[in-house]
Amino acid sequence: REILPARPPFSSMVAELKAKLNANENPYGPSYSAQQAVIHSVGRGNRYAWKELFDLINKIAGKEGIPANHIMMGPGSSDLLEKVAMVCFQKGGNIVSADPTYMSLVNVAKAVGAGWKAIPCKSDWSHDLSAMEAAIDANTRLVYICNPNNPTGAVTSGKELYDFCSRVSEKVPVFIDEAYMELADAGATESMVTLLAKNKNVIIARTFSKVMGLAGIRVGYIAALPSFLESIDQITRGGMGIAYTSIFAASASLDDGAFQSMTIERNLATKNWLYAELDKLGYQYINSHTNFVLFPIRKPGKTFLELMTAGGVGVRAFEIKNKPWCRVSIGTMEEMQLFVNTLKSIS
Ligand code: PLP
Repeated sequence: REILPARPPFSSMVAELKAKLNANENPYGPSYSAQQAVIHSVGRGNRYAWKELFDLINKIAGKEGIPANHIMMGPGSSDLLEKVAMVCFQKGGNIVSADPTYMSLVNVAKAVGAGWKAIPCKSDWSHDLSAMEAAIDANTRLVYICNPNNPTGAVTSGKELYDFCSRVSEKVPVFIDEAYMELADAGATESMVTLLAKNKNVIIARTFSKVMGLAGIRVGYIAALPSFLESIDQITRGGMGIAYTSIFAASASLDDGAFQSMTIERNLATKNWLYAELDKLGYQYINSHTNFVLFPIRKPGKTFLELMTAGGVGVRAFEIKNKPWCRVSIGTMEEMQLFVNTLKSIS
């Protein structure tokens, strides 16, 4: 459960923060090439972008090794998470997911009437796949897996997840949110997109908001079987929501491997520096495969948030296993130094 600050969350998310470490954004983006692409495309923004969108879909399909009709674009993956929840749970049912996990899809499912079967993560914070499988019943409409998981940063083994999805997707669709996949340690886990070639009913969500640095430009997609995408298309307009300029920014970002590698390298180096600082201060963090770190704190979540915000540092707080935790995004070295100094000063 997330602990919200005393002030309305959005004002504290944007207010006078010197280090904005609360939304797992990329502190280096958008890349120069993405910025140029926006500038050069804005003059054609009087047109709907159907052809340009299709060009982007083809590029993504090539990268993922799947046909273009397996992809649906959205203005950020949030849009698609929510659409999937609205469509899958319009007639009720239940959703099975880990707890804790990223709540965007689950919250919309609950809001439209679904029951939530929350399965605690294992002691290493990976998904408890056998307990999740056992929780599926005749009313289960979707299984949601976030890998690497948010807010923990932990991964679930690629092989175990692959076997789980292969089996379970015969009964019920499995949604795998891979927002942070590019940031996972090499070999730690893998994308489930390969299951689509085996005709499995899985839905993989990817975003341009993290490693590509386009959180405010809003581009994401889901990869799924055409039959599943058609069910979404019947009551929504997938793809329609992306701005003309965002399509060009996304396309340029896909081509900019150097920017992505720079982000991955700097994220890792800064995260390792943070680990060393937390070690010195005696905080026991969860090993993270993302651009954020979760660790238990020594003050109630609300007090902690207020003190950090007063120091100009925006972070998030959660109540997990009856303890307060801080989730801090990996920013620039300068931002992380401010975070550590503020943490020291309030301890
Ligand atoms: N999925 C996960 C796990 C996330 O952490 C986020 C954002 O932080 C999203 C999806 C949504 O990202 P966006 O809508 O920017 O693609």
